Amino acid sequence: MRVELCKRCLRRLQFQREELERELRKLLLKAEVREVKEEECVYCCGLFKRLPEVAGEIANKLKEYEVRSIQTGCVLRGSLGEVERFFLELKESRSDEDSRKWSIKHEINDVLTKHLTELLNVRDARREKLGDATVTLDAETLDYEVRITPVYIYGRYVKRVRNIPQTRWICSACNGRGCQICGFSGKKYPTSVEELIGQPCVEIMRARDAVLHGAGREDVDARMLGNGRPFILEVRDPKVRSVDLGELERTVNESAGGKVRVRFLGFAEPRHVSLLKTSKFRKKYRAVVEFEREVGEDELRRALKELSYKVIEQFTPERVEHRRANILRRRRTYELELLLHRGKKAVITVEADSGLYIKELVSGDKGRTKPSLSEILNSPARVVRLDVICVLGGLEDFESMP
Ligand SMILES: [Zn+2]
Ligand SMILES: [Zn+2]
Repeated sequence: MRVELCKRCLRRLQFQREELERELRKLLLKAEVREVKEEECVYCCGLFKRLPEVAGEIANKLKEYEVRSIQTGCVLRGSLGEVERFFLELKESRSDEDSRKWSIKHEINDVLTKHLTELLNVRDARREKLGDATVTLDAETLDYEVRITPVYIYGRYVKRVRNIPQTRWICSACNGRGCQICGFSGKKYPTSVEELIGQPCVEIMRARDAVLHGAGREDVDARMLGNGRPFILEVRDPKVRSVDLGELERTVNESAGGKVRVRFLGFAEPRHVSLLKTSKFRKKYRAVVEFEREVGEDELRRALKELSYKVIEQFTPERVEHRRANILRRRRTYELELLLHRGKKAVITVEADSGLYIKELVSGDKGRTKPSLSEILNSPARVVRLDVICVLGGLEDFESMP
């Protein structure tokens, strides 16, 4: 049997020819090891000679993107993977050193990274958390995949008008294709907080798309006031990354025409999205409530006091039941206060844990929410207008935020 390896692969494996022959003989393989040109090598098959060209192609693709650091990776499949496994096992059986240093994968990454960092004049991000771009090479076919890391921007938004959903709401009749019901827009609502914030960012950063991740969401017909709701905007495939957030903020606020206002607080990382999604921020609401009968002010104050600092049990509200499973949730209320009262109407504030359904806290939702204002007053009551007036806390309270 002949084992033909190139100088590069022998050097990487730290084997002399004779030494390798001896090792193979131990495995009962009578082999003659020959040093050949890279193109004829059973291990690398000359792929290193083709890497500069591949790197050139990748660099060309990346040229139009603002990329400051790059991460590379490669996958070994097919016969290349088999050969690598064979040699690494052979090396490992002789030594307790980390086998990665003999790996062709390691060398491919090194060489590709070197080419790319030079061609593009960017940093090697392999030791960082995440580069601006990630290149994955298939070492067998030399096909590659280039992924531009999204830019994440953390901020808070205020929504000053009703009937704007937080994110794009696809028309359910046509599934976004456009029909008579949605006026051929494909959307149930003409715009959303996501679009009002995202669109100017997409334009300025020359991105493909922008997705808004909110710390919870208010009802479509509720305003979001006060200090605003924390969110992270994920700007996908941006060609421009280093933007002045103050300037971006002004542009967004101008183009939103007063419907939505943002405060951009800083650049975030992908892990902050899940942190934002799982953090429970307490909220304060203001609700205009209407009662079926006239209620006395003392009676109302007593009822609000009784509802304060309580654990509320809520089955999934009837109005969202078609979208979510019917589960029982328990959420705590804090202070409920009376701001205004006249006959059958009152304005109240409610402070509560994230996730408490306020409309149902008032109406009782036909007994699905307990206790409720309706139940305590023994008279049907409903919310006619609802605003979130404060979201307590945000990612800026976490130490890990920039
Ligand atoms: Zn080789
Ligand atoms: Zn439609």
